[in-house]
Amino acid sequence: MSRAALAIERLMMYEEIEHGRKLNRDIINNVNEGILFVNTDGVMQHINKALSQLFEYREWTEGTLVPAEDWLDAFSGRSNESAELRQFYVNAMSELAADSSTKYSLGKEEIKHVDVYAIPVLRREDRIGTLFVHRDITREYELDLMKSELVSTVSHELRTPLSSVLGFTELLLSKTMKPEKQLKYLETIHKEAKRLTELINDFLDLQRMESGTQQYSVEQAHLSEIVLGVIDQYKLSSTHHILLEDDALHDEVAVDKDKMVQVLTNLLSNAIKFSPGSREVRVQLQNEPNRIVVRIKDQGLGIPKNQLGQLFQKFRRVDNSASKRIGGTGLGLAICKEIIEKHKGAIGIESVEGEGTAVWFSLPVLLAEDGRHAEEMSRRGEGKEQKPNVMIVEDDYSLSLLLSEELKGKGFRVTHHYYPQKAFDQALKSPFAAIVVDLMLGEELNGWDLIRMLKNDSRTERIPIVISSALDQTEKGLLENVETYLTKPYPPGELSNTLQEIVEIRLKSGEVLFPDHDS
Ligand code: ADP
Repeated sequence: MSRAALAIERLMMYEEIEHGRKLNRDIINNVNEGILFVNTDGVMQHINKALSQLFEYREWTEGTLVPAEDWLDAFSGRSNESAELRQFYVNAMSELAADSSTKYSLGKEEIKHVDVYAIPVLRREDRIGTLFVHRDITREYELDLMKSELVSTVSHELRTPLSSVLGFTELLLSKTMKPEKQLKYLETIHKEAKRLTELINDFLDLQRMESGTQQYSVEQAHLSEIVLGVIDQYKLSSTHHILLEDDALHDEVAVDKDKMVQVLTNLLSNAIKFSPGSREVRVQLQNEPNRIVVRIKDQGLGIPKNQLGQLFQKFRRVDNSASKRIGGTGLGLAICKEIIEKHKGAIGIESVEGEGTAVWFSLPVLLAEDGRHAEEMSRRGEGKEQKPNVMIVEDDYSLSLLLSEELKGKGFRVTHHYYPQKAFDQALKSPFAAIVVDLMLGEELNGWDLIRMLKNDSRTERIPIVISSALDQTEKGLLENVETYLTKPYPPGELSNTLQEIVEIRLKSGEVLFPDHDS
């Protein structure tokens, strides 16, 4: 009996010890910190789950002893500060070492920042090993970085306009000057004050978006219409010519129009701002299966590859002198991303440093219920369809829109221009099935000048021209070079019919009508 009792007691004791051991293991495995215990010879006796995940070190099983050289190689080898981390481990394990800590980082694309501290583990008075505790501090690190970026951005972006405002008002107060000069100063003050307001609006927007209190009033809209409207705003004020290549037959989207305008304005002003050496920005609209993609391309400074991934984060700006010289808060792209994602869309950026940048975003399109559109769009998305390209040179926004809708519906790809010279340059670069010209264009050159330029150049003389004008037919001499003369207001169907006839004739005579999509 007593022997049996002893055996049962032993069994119970064993179970109790086993229970305690498992409990300890579970506790250690469930803490967020990565724990590593090494004995006085540097042999690794235990690591917990968090640490094996952090270093993607899954070879270890409980009870295995790993010599110092092996785990040191495996762990420090993963760090971006390999030599420093190794040295830290080695120093911390030395007999006399007290508490110590360091920070290091892991990973190339998605960088993790880690803080590690080491403490000697004592049993009574004797040291039995060293405990290393690793904590993922990526979030704190990024917050810290953002804080310092915020301070430097705010101080720079506030100070610059403020110093103009102060300087110019002081001048106005202290000196009498000619009215023209006064006006010029006042305009500068006004411009700088507006810049300050925009900065504050950006901050507030972002804050509202992050706290989820931003209101979206979504309605059905045509994206091409919104895009053309924004481009129209830039027509007079911009240093750049903005060219729209509209290839999207299905552009019905459910969006908050003001927010879309905000996104487009932001992206266009970036494209202009960061391409000081060029004069052109291209906007392309295309359908992909179930989506519409807007791409804004410039030939500007471009962005170094290693910084591309970070620019949608707040306050992030390209870290080089050429880009830094150009003002900005680094909030625009973060705001765009937030807005586009709220509309179930996606946004991205592609760039080659020194060559240019393309920022694109895509949104789901509203499809016809019978699925007709979906099928057609997937065909188009695969690029099986080639469409004749027509250029519309027209400075009236509403008419451009009307003609564009009609022509896209009849299977044309439409390129919009409003400067004759730019239209001519483009005609040299890619084949057009026809060019529709409004006669009353800009001040320097008009539609007739464009027609003359096209007809006098052997590379463009064969492109058929359709005049779309509010004027009655004049300049008879030139008219013989022109295919058709449409007097406004004419039904858009008349234009598309004319163009279809032209295309048929030209196809029969074997002309090249289809542009390369990326040209
Ligand atoms: P901001 O323009 O106010 O600096 P954004 O968030 O709009 O802020 O852009 C962040 C950074 O991305 C810019 O500072 C710039 O360095 C880079 N960037 C954005 N768009 C372009 C572009 N089209 N070309 C080159 N760099 C760009």
